[in-house]
Amino acid sequence: MLIDLHMHSTASDGALTPSELVRCCFERCGVGTMALTDHDTVAGVGEARRAARLCGMRFISGIEVSTIWAERSVHIVGLGVDDSNAELLEVTADLCDKRDRRAVEIGRRLDALGFENMFEKALAHTHVKSNISRLHFARALLDEGAVRSVQQAFDRYLTQGKPAYVAAAWPSIAEAVALIHRAGGVAVLAHPGRYRFSGGDWQLDALVEGFVESGGEAIEVVSGSQSPSFVPRCIAWVRRYHLFGSVGSDFHSPGGERPAPGEQGQLPEGVPSVLELLA
Ligand code: AMP
Ligand code: MN
Ligand code: MN
Ligand code: MN
Repeated sequence: MLIDLHMHSTASDGALTPSELVRCCFERCGVGTMALTDHDTVAGVGEARRAARLCGMRFISGIEVSTIWAERSVHIVGLGVDDSNAELLEVTADLCDKRDRRAVEIGRRLDALGFENMFEKALAHTHVKSNISRLHFARALLDEGAVRSVQQAFDRYLTQGKPAYVAAAWPSIAEAVALIHRAGGVAVLAHPGRYRFSGGDWQLDALVEGFVESGGEAIEVVSGSQSPSFVPRCIAWVRRYHLFGSVGSDFHSPGGERPAPGEQGQLPEGVPSVLELLA
């Protein structure tokens, strides 16, 4: 059966509830080992774990922590975190508050561009009425008929440098890695092939080196959020820094642009799996 260690539920900006996601993985996608990695929250982990137990799947608790590096947002996945860890719960509650305050400002900026009540419209796209993501705004802009696709909503309004982009004071990579470690987890650099730095290639190498110096253990070698042609570069980092490899679809919703659970591909031969650290 397939492995998928990066997916989202309605606890952040996914479209399926944690139990719907588990059933989708098990019944439709052939995934036998999964992690739930919602943005900045472990609120869905308990429900997903119970659903996975009923299916007899291997379940790994997870989170995708937003961080800032070289003024860009970089995502650190934590796998195997204790979802009852007091510090993790406290810090993630604060991160979700930051998201919601940022969303108020994104809404203001969109309204200033001629839209109406965009904060409320994005909020209506969330399941938990909190932890608002730019993806919720993209879906709301699509409803308005303002854009033809989620991608266009990002390209026109929501990406860094565009009029409704609002920077958030996310923690540093070192803070996120330390938080994940103190909660008993392993830190994974998410989709390294997706970051676009002004400095280009050398800056991406510096990012990976910084992540390793912060104590990070693994990188996503195969991700639904990065091109398959990026795999060799990841393997080079794995060898150079003695990292472990992870795989994940970054699934958000059925029919989305990303691959279905498990569909991203599996770890290439010879790359040590992050699962070895999660026995
Ligand atoms: P946030 O964490 O709220 O800043 O938003 C990040 C979310 O938006 C994640 O789910 C990303 O997968 C998604 N996202 C970011 N950039 C893009 C893009 N260019 N096209 C589509 N989705 C994106
Ligand atoms: Mn997302
Ligand atoms: Mn991400
Ligand atoms: Mn993700």
